[in-house]
Amino acid sequence: MGALLLCVFLGRKNKRKAARDVSYFILALLPPMLGNLIIIVSSTESFALVGSYVYFLGLDITVLALLRFTTDYCRMPFKGTLLRRVIYALVIFDFLQFALNPLTGHVFHLTPIDVEGSAYWLLVPAIGQSIHRIIAYGIFFASLGIFGYRTFTSPRFYVERYLIIFISMVVCCVLESFYIFSSTPIDRSMIAFGLFGLLVFYFTLYHKPTHLLNSMLARVVRNMTEGVLLFDRSGSCLYANKSARELFGIQEEADLSGCMALMADLVDEPSLRFDADWSRKRTVEIAGEVKHLEIGLRTIEEKGAVVGAFLSVRDRTEEDNRLARERYMARHDRLTGLYNQDYFYAKVSQLLRRDPEGQYVVAAFDVKDFKIVNDIFSKEFGDKVLVAMADCLRDVAGRQEPTVIGRIGGDKFGLILPRGHYTEAACEKELQRVCDSVSEIGQNRNYSIIIHLGVYYVDGPSLPPSVMYDRAFMALNSVKNDFQHHVAFYDDRMRDDVIRRQRVANELEEAMRSCQIRPYLQPMVDSNGNIQGAEVLARWIHPQEGLLLPGRFIPILESTGLIARFDAYIWECACLLLREWGKRGIDKFLSVNISQRDFYFLDIYEVISGLVRKYGIDPSKLRLEVTESVMMSDMRNRLETMNRLRADGFLMEMDDFGSGYSSLNMLKDVPFDILKIDMMFLSASENAGKARVILQTIINLSTELGITSITEGVETKGQFDMLLDMGCRLFQGYYFARPMAVEDFEEQYLVEESTL
Ligand code: C2E
Ligand code: MG
Ligand code: MG
Repeated sequence: MGALLLCVFLGRKNKRKAARDVSYFILALLPPMLGNLIIIVSSTESFALVGSYVYFLGLDITVLALLRFTTDYCRMPFKGTLLRRVIYALVIFDFLQFALNPLTGHVFHLTPIDVEGSAYWLLVPAIGQSIHRIIAYGIFFASLGIFGYRTFTSPRFYVERYLIIFISMVVCCVLESFYIFSSTPIDRSMIAFGLFGLLVFYFTLYHKPTHLLNSMLARVVRNMTEGVLLFDRSGSCLYANKSARELFGIQEEADLSGCMALMADLVDEPSLRFDADWSRKRTVEIAGEVKHLEIGLRTIEEKGAVVGAFLSVRDRTEEDNRLARERYMARHDRLTGLYNQDYFYAKVSQLLRRDPEGQYVVAAFDVKDFKIVNDIFSKEFGDKVLVAMADCLRDVAGRQEPTVIGRIGGDKFGLILPRGHYTEAACEKELQRVCDSVSEIGQNRNYSIIIHLGVYYVDGPSLPPSVMYDRAFMALNSVKNDFQHHVAFYDDRMRDDVIRRQRVANELEEAMRSCQIRPYLQPMVDSNGNIQGAEVLARWIHPQEGLLLPGRFIPILESTGLIARFDAYIWECACLLLREWGKRGIDKFLSVNISQRDFYFLDIYEVISGLVRKYGIDPSKLRLEVTESVMMSDMRNRLETMNRLRADGFLMEMDDFGSGYSSLNMLKDVPFDILKIDMMFLSASENAGKARVILQTIINLSTELGITSITEGVETKGQFDMLLDMGCRLFQGYYFARPMAVEDFEEQYLVEESTL
């Protein structure tokens, strides 16, 4: 009992849960043992009775604790199960029948006998005793069964864990049976209990199943992907696992004596020394294959002396190759094999850091209308163009090391190279070579590929490479729509321009809200000088920059798409004015400009017809000016829009007639009501004579076609007289008036009229 108490004490001190479970179980063993002891030593009946009750009830507690320990140890579900409730009910029932025993005597009574000269109270069992035994032994055998089940069904590795407890239980059981079936009067089963407790305690907490561990470790080492070789102190190889044999081509049964030399060779040493641990990486050729190996040596010591060592060899070839592949993919463009954007920037910055005094240029390349190339000739052809382009750039770069080339995205490429003689002419020449060789791949397609180049002179490594590239690209953008120049060099004005564009775009909304954007009116007069109407021309009265003409902001708004919002605003201003004039009985028209870009962003028909409906205006009072560029794309839809507007009563004016490439053709296909002849025919140039002939022809042509013509840009009386002679009947120009604020226009031209 003392030993068991010590086990309880040790178990409670141990932090492991298993230790606490075991100590509970051993604690539960003590009551029946105590009862047993009392029975043995008692000389009076009442003393022996107390001992018997302690023994029987303690036994119930013991088997319950055993069952709990068993289910925990064997990881069987028990807590919260129905079985647990039934077992507890049975034990409570047993308790009750013992409680009734003093009255009924149905479980047992005691009778004195003489054993070797001293008095002993022998237990005489009755029916209740059998019930008690069924319950107690039932629970005991259930636990035994669980251990038996685990012993026979667990994988070989774990059998030992269960087998030991199972055997302990069987031993205990045999001892107990021996007492029950032998005719020994004195019950010494407590010895079996105590023994069982000690065995369980030892095997659960202190016994290391070395066989289990050894076989487990051996199996782990055998099947490890790492090669493992074990050497004794003298350097003979005792063991090489499967991976090591496979890696070095050592047969299963082969002699391992050559291993030491093999390994020493691997790490370029005459022999392996076992004085310290180390690890190294090596790239070697084994059976014609290049392998990346990571080799580590660990010494094995016993009592401070080295008794051997094991060598681990990890084949990193696949992993290294995969990493290298992934690194390549993360840094390169798949199609062209050039660096991708991020890596290009990283390499540029590395180059500039290494050579801060060097003179470099960052160049941005872009294929003109690459989308069209893709659309017309297929994506595959587009890819070929990009690959050819990359090859050309490699070629250019190859001649001027050190360089870095990257594909920034889509058809955009970046290059950094020594400044050398990078003049505009040299660049144009170089670029032409690139264009020519790229175009070669599309030879029989009748399409010459144009490439644009923007150049930024690097001024030390202070700017991030992405900004340098952006600047080169900014330069490129400035020649994107230029048919003659394909190369541009960055200067700070470009940046200012971009900043200005950004500012315009940012300020526009507020400008419209606070009436900085205003419609100015320029009169359109007839041959008698009478005002027929006016063209609405936008002005921006900027708080800092003063009056801005459309040339300063319309192109920016067009390039950002904000033009649609802007024009809708101007049209609404015009409608408001027309409604006002209508109320005052003023019968004048207003012409508004429609940008080509408006057609992309607006349903022009809906917006304009909606406005005249909203303000109750006669559509013929709102004339619509479009230039021929409107018809350059999506002609069918745009014609339909114009026809619908004309059907509603709007008059369509063709603005800047004669300034474009296909004005005459346009006249044939598009139903205009009015031709606004471009002011360039009036300019005094060397070809003034020819211009006059053309002017006369246009005026005649429009008369023949029944189209009204109006000439813009009339600046002098002479021009006016000439146009009158030519048969023109409507005029607009500084000779009559400059564009002016609405109030000025009304004051100058409308007051007299409404007072007439
Ligand atoms: P446009 O529609 O051809 O307008 C005529 C331009 O010629 C106006 O320039 C006008 O001031 C100018 N002009 C008129 N008479 C003479 C003259 O005798 N001599 C000279 N040298 N110029 C004359 P402005 O106002 O600078 O407008 C320029 C262009 O901006 C317009 O050309 C038009 O295309 C565009 N624009 C103006 N306002 C708007 C607008 O609200 N929306 C859109 N989308 N474009 C507008
Ligand atoms: Mg106009
Ligand atoms: Mg015009």
